[in-house]
Parts: sequence; C-alpha cells; structure tokens
Amino acid sequence: MTINNKTILITGGSKGIGKATAIKMAQKGIRIARNYNSSKEGAQLTAKEVTKLGGEAIILKADVSDENQVEEMIGNILNKWKTVDILVNNAGIIKDSLLLGMSIDDWDKVINVDLRGTFLCTRDLIRGMIRQKWGREINVGSVVGIRGNPGQTNYSAAKAGIIGFTKALAKEVAGRNITVNTVTPGYVATDTVAVLKQSLKNTILNRIPQHKFGEANDVAEMINFLASDEASYITGQVISVDGGLAI
Ligand code: NAP
Repeated sequence: MTINNKTILITGGSKGIGKATAIKMAQKGIRIARNYNSSKEGAQLTAKEVTKLGGEAIILKADVSDENQVEEMIGNILNKWKTVDILVNNAGIIKDSLLLGMSIDDWDKVINVDLRGTFLCTRDLIRGMIRQKWGREINVGSVVGIRGNPGQTNYSAAKAGIIGFTKALAKEVAGRNITVNTVTPGYVATDTVAVLKQSLKNTILNRIPQHKFGEANDVAEMINFLASDEASYITGQVISVDGGLAI
C-alpha cells in the first residue's frame, strides 16, 4: 500500500485496533499521532514500536468527546507537523444494558465518545484537507450499527450515526480529493471482547459464519488500505471486516 510521507491521527491509539493500525502504518517518513484517554503506558509502548519501524510518533492525551481537549490536541499536532492528511476515528466505548434499564449517563457517554468524538475530530481537521485538496478519513463503526444488538441501543445508535455521517461527509468533500469511509468490525479479539462471559462468546461464535473472532490486525489491514493511494476511488462506503457476520 502506498502511504508516502503522510501525517496521520489515530484516535484511541493506545491499544486494540488503534494500536494495530499504528503499527501497520508505521514506516519511514510516516508521522503518526496517536491519541489516548487513560492508557498512557500502552500509548507509550506503541510509540516505541512505531519509531522502531522507522516512523515518527507522538502521543496525545485527550477525551475525544470534549471540544476543548480535541481542539488543543489538534492544535498541538498542527504546530508540530503543519498538517494531518489521514484521520482514523477509532476511539470508542461501550456501556451496555437493555433499554429499560439504560441510564441517561450511559446513553450520553457512548453517543459522545463514539459519535460526537468523530464529529469533533473531523470538524477540526477537514478544513486543512480541503485546503490541500487531499485527505483520507476512516471511521471505525461496528456491525451492530448495521444489524442492531440487544443491550446496545446506545452503541448501535452511535455506530449507525457514524455510517450516516460518513456518507453525508463523503458527498460534501468528494470534489476535493478527500475520501471518507467506515470500516465495520464484527467481533474482534481486543479488550472489548475479552470481558465477555465464555457462554456469551460461544453464542456469538455460533453466529459468525467463519466461527472465529477477528484479530485487530484484520481491521488494521482494511484501514491501511483505505488510507492508501490505491483506494482513491472508494468513498462513502461501509466495509465490514467481520467473518461474514453482517451477511
Ligand atoms: P479497545 O481496545 O478498548 O480500545 C479503545 C480505544 O479507545 C482505546 O485506545 C481508548 O483509549 C480509546 N478511548 C476510549 N474512550 C476514549 C475517549 N473518551 N477519548 C479518547 N480515546 C478514548 O477497543 P477496540 O476493540 O480496539 O475498539 C476500537 C474501535 O473499534 C472502537 O470504536 C470500537 O467501538 C470498534 N469496534 C470494536 C469491536 C471489537 O470487537 N473489538 C467491534 C466493532 C467495533 P484509553 O484506553 O486510553 O482510554
């Protein structure tokens, strides 16, 4: 994949899919800013791996749902590297419960991190991409944003929102050589899945046509492709990496 001399921001880059994406993209000439919210140690370790592979790396603490923190984070990146060419909106959380028992706080938190965070980071960076007439945005959605999932009305709504956001923005900026796409993972073996009870994991595995969980690398591979020159004619798309779950 050709991603020469680009500057990339990956939100939620301290672990899981964000970390795998940073390592996949790391190469000579690449500058990768990775954001974290609480896992500083994980972010630092990944930065070391990126540097070892020849890339430049910085890590920035910011809660993507907070307008001021996002503004400060992006200001710091632009001060250092002048531009962000590729934005990967990956930060996400879950706060599951059936709707009848869902608190307003759990609804708001998930919508704010997963959907508002995508809006805030995009809004602060898209202007630069428009000016330079080149940009790539890859949003990390979820298969539940397509299919829904009981116990996840908040998360399903946020991830479905990301799909609508992607399609609308793709139309707004297509003429400026900017592509906007969403990758929708199924169940990927990261911390998010590790906490599930074994009985639930078995039920889920039975529903996945490939009968296995994905690896963070499987998703990172698709993000890497969508960020590359080779993907320049793909925009507004929702691409599942899910072992067939969304079929
Ligand atoms: P993960 O290992 O739990 O990583 C989540 C990342 O998001 C962490 O780096 C975390 O940073 C960051 N984050 C959380 N809240 C944040 C906030 N307020 N501000 C900034 N960063 C924040 O999860 P993952 O499985 O890799 O998930 C990555 C993305 O894939 C998420 O959008 C998730 O919804 C999506 N996804 C995952 C799966 C799956 O099965 N794993 C399936 C479908 C979609 P800190 O640790 O520093 O807080």
